[in-house]
Amino acid sequence: MNKQPVSRELFDEVMVPNYAPGKVIPVRGEGSRVWDQEEREFIDLAGGIAVTCLGHSHPGLVSALMEQAEKIWHLSNVMTNEPALRLAKTLCDLTFAERVFFANSGAEANEAAFKLARRYAWQHTGPEKNEIIAFKNAFHGRTLFTVSVGGQPKYLEGFEPAPGGIQHADFNDLESVKKLISKDRTCAVVVEPIQGEGGVMPADEDFLKGLRKLCDEHNALLVFDEVQSGVGRTGHLYAYQMYGVTPDILSTAKSLGGGFPVAAMLTTTKIAESFVVGTHGSTYGGNALACAVAQRVVDTVSQGDILKGVAARSDKLRKGMMDIGERYGVFSEVRGAGLLLGCVMSDQWQGKAKEFLAAGIEEGVMVLIAGPNVIRLAPSLIIPEPDLDEALTRFEAAVKRVVGQ
Ligand SMILES: *Cc1c(COP(=O)(O)O)cnc(C)c1O
Repeated sequence: MNKQPVSRELFDEVMVPNYAPGKVIPVRGEGSRVWDQEEREFIDLAGGIAVTCLGHSHPGLVSALMEQAEKIWHLSNVMTNEPALRLAKTLCDLTFAERVFFANSGAEANEAAFKLARRYAWQHTGPEKNEIIAFKNAFHGRTLFTVSVGGQPKYLEGFEPAPGGIQHADFNDLESVKKLISKDRTCAVVVEPIQGEGGVMPADEDFLKGLRKLCDEHNALLVFDEVQSGVGRTGHLYAYQMYGVTPDILSTAKSLGGGFPVAAMLTTTKIAESFVVGTHGSTYGGNALACAVAQRVVDTVSQGDILKGVAARSDKLRKGMMDIGERYGVFSEVRGAGLLLGCVMSDQWQGKAKEFLAAGIEEGVMVLIAGPNVIRLAPSLIIPEPDLDEALTRFEAAVKRVVGQ
């Protein structure tokens, strides 16, 4: 076994340089706390980018993984397996879905969603009904199709030609969608109920309701990308349930595995029928280990008081960050829902979100950014209240550091 000591320098030697990780190398986590190689302790408000929804080393998830590890790991989709079918049944019971497709990442779940939307329109209307309307600033993943549907041109730079038939409207602006949508050409409208990477920007309820209506009028499918907003983040299992607007296709990943890679695309029976045998697939999709862990995540989040507890934690965190924002003049607003919050930098601190993230590490609190102007928080849904208090104290110290007080 390779027991070579590992340092941050090794990253620069052996890794493709598409990331720029910080100095700290965490080696262990428990609940909402993480320890690095030097035994320095951090409170985790980042959650591995909205992934570790039950914190680190959750005993229930550890046992689900260990129990399945001793039974069977993988079978491929040539055979099916019990954990995948159980999880699919659970997801159908808890949501609008009647059919499930499993994948390994958010991008793959979205890729499946976009392909299915096209295939459905192709089958029921014809090949010219292939256009996808997405939104500026949206993020749907990094495969060439999903990054093209995403609305951040910088992520496409140097990778063109991009797939065609994709248009971008303005988020929260129904009129801009009306200008693009067409009964003959539009197959789907794709939206994040809360734009995550794009700056933690929640959709207005009227906007989503309007999209639902426009899609119905134009015989287009409404696709919700809930890769970030799903699995309890908003205090509802899925954000669509909070908004009261039901999509035709929904993608879920990130928190679904609580730290184990797994994703799913949910849809109805009628739409699912367009993916006939052989039209789409994934080697690892529906992997038994992944589905066993996801099952425990979904069961744990959907049963008991976890969803109810999100609101109280959200209020505390939101209020704490707003207070800090007011005291030091660093934030203009704190937005988002549940435990997906974005603290927007004030005019004076435009472009400086990264400095606060770095200062947070120095003070022992991990946060995220969403673009240059937003500090993003996506902690465990069960972060203990004292950890939240301590995280706020540490973050205030980080702010003091940056503003020089
Ligand atoms: C993270 C994210 C994705 C991509 O998920 P990956 O697992 O990184 O492929 C897609 N959509 C949204 C909304 C996301 O937040």
